[in-house]
Amino acid sequence: MNASSTPFPPLVIPRSEHSISRAAISPNALKVLYRLKEAGYQGFLVGGAVRDLLLGITPKDFDVATNALPEEVRRLFRNCRLIGRRFRLAHVHFGNEIIEVATFRAAAAPEREDAEEADPDSENDAALGDGTAGEGASTGRAAAAGAAPEPAAAYDSEHRAFDQSGRILRDNIYGTIEEDVWRRDFAANGLYYSIEDFSIWDFVDGVSDVRARRLKLIGDPETRYREDPVRMLRAVRFAAKLDFSIEPVTEAPIRKLAYLLDGVPPARLFDECLKLFLSGFGVKSYRLLQKYGLFEHLFPMSAAAFALPPYAYAQDMLERGLMNTDERIAADKPVTPTFLFAVLLWSAVLRELNERQAGPAPDLALLMQACDTVLRAQQSRVAIPRRFAVPMRELLMLQPRFNRRSGVKSLSLLQHPRFRAAYDFLLLRAQVGVADPELAKWWTDIQVLPQEERVALVQARPAEPAAEGDAAAPASRRRRRRRRGGAART
Ligand code: ATP
Ligand code: MG
Repeated sequence: MNASSTPFPPLVIPRSEHSISRAAISPNALKVLYRLKEAGYQGFLVGGAVRDLLLGITPKDFDVATNALPEEVRRLFRNCRLIGRRFRLAHVHFGNEIIEVATFRAAAAPEREDAEEADPDSENDAALGDGTAGEGASTGRAAAAGAAPEPAAAYDSEHRAFDQSGRILRDNIYGTIEEDVWRRDFAANGLYYSIEDFSIWDFVDGVSDVRARRLKLIGDPETRYREDPVRMLRAVRFAAKLDFSIEPVTEAPIRKLAYLLDGVPPARLFDECLKLFLSGFGVKSYRLLQKYGLFEHLFPMSAAAFALPPYAYAQDMLERGLMNTDERIAADKPVTPTFLFAVLLWSAVLRELNERQAGPAPDLALLMQACDTVLRAQQSRVAIPRRFAVPMRELLMLQPRFNRRSGVKSLSLLQHPRFRAAYDFLLLRAQVGVADPELAKWWTDIQVLPQEERVALVQARPAEPAAEGDAAAPASRRRRRRRRGGAART
C-alpha cells in the first residue's frame, strides 16, 4: 500500500454537528464497519449512502471504504467474495443484502474497469438489480451476486510489480483516503462517515453541496467526463432522483461532450438506462437527457423518429409510459424493462416498417423485420439482453392482433403470455390517439367477462376480412388510408 504522497486535511464534522444517526444505517453495514475497526483498519461509510442519510432519505445500498486490502477484508468475513479483475472489491453477503467494501483507490489506479463488451444474450439476469460497483458494470454488485465464477486475480504489470516468489513489491492500485476521494464523481458523493468517532470527513466541501442540493464534479468537469462519460448520465440521474441542480461549470460541457457516450460499452449503458428509467423518476430523467442532448446518443433511431411529424406523438407516448412506470414504482408495483424498451423503440420500429411497406395495414412479417432491424442497430448503443428483447418484440407483434375481434379464434389473444403487457401498450396508444379508444375499451371489458359471454360477443361481430391492421386489407382501402394517415400506426 502506498503512503499518501500529499496529506490533505479534511474538514472533520463531529457527530454533534451532523444529522447521521447509526439507527438509520443498515445493521449489516455497521457490522462490517465495526469488524474492520476491531481488526485495526479504517472503516468508512462512503458515497451515496452518506449523501442520502444527510438528506434524510433511505440509501439504496451502503458502501464501505477501508484501508484494508481486499484479501485482508476477505479474511475478516466468512460471507465474503472478491470480485473485479484489477481493482478488486469485496462483497460481504448477508442474505439479500450485499455490503460492498472497497479498498481506498490510488490516484494512479485505472479510472474504471471497462465493462466487457457483453454479448446481450449472455447478459446475466442481475442486470435488473442495482449493479453499482461504482464505475464498472461488469464488477457490479448485482452482477457479482450472479453465479458466474470470478476469474483468478489477473495482476497487471502496469500497476504492480512482483518479486520472484510472487510477493508484491509495489502496488499502486490501492491507496489512501486522501487519494480515494479525488476519483469520486460529485462532491456530494465524496463524503466519508467514520466508524471511529461517527464524524464525517469532507475533503471536497461536499456537505455544503448536499445542503444546497447541488451537483458539482470534483476536479475539471471536461477532464472528468472524458475519463468516464457515464458521469454525464449520473449527473442527470442524481439531478432527477434527488432534485439537485447541476452547478453551471459541471453542466456547461455536457452538451458538447454528449457524443462521448458513443464509446461506452453498450452493456454498461443498459445498466445505466435501467437506473435512469426504472427507479421512479423516469419522466424527469428523460427530460434532462433530452435537455442535454444525451438521449440521441442512447437511442439515436428513436430520437430521429421523434423529430419527424408522423412519429412526433411517440414522444408523448414515451412520457406517458414513463409516468405510468414512475407511478407503479411509487405504488410498489413491479415494472419491466420489456415494456420500457417497447415504448422507447416504438417510433423507430414504425418508421422502419413504413419504409418497407406500401400501405398502412401492417404486414406481420415486415413488422417482425422492422423490430429486428431496430433491435440489431440499438444493441450497438444500449445492449438490451435477449430475455427482454424477445418479449419486447412479441409485445409489439401482438398490436395488430387487437384489431381482430370476430370469431372465437380472436379470443386466443387473451391467453397469450404477453397479453397483459401488449394490452397496456394498446391503452397507451389509445391515450395518444393512435389506437381507437373503442377498441381499447372492448379489450378492457372482455377481460372480465365469463367465457360464454366472450364467445357470444365475438360471434355477434361481423366477420372482419378487411379489419384495420390486417395484412389482407384490400389494396384500394390501404391506399386511401395511406393518403390520409400518411404512415402506418399499427
Ligand atoms: P445510488 O443512490 O444510485 O446508489 P451512489 O452515489 O451510491 O448512488 P453508486 O453508483 O452506488 O452511486 O456509487 C457509489 C459511489 O462511488 C458514488 O457515490 C461515487 O462516489 C463513486 N462512483 C460511482 N461511479 C462513479 C463514477 N463513474 N465516477 C466516479 N465516481 C463514481
Ligand atoms: Mg450506491
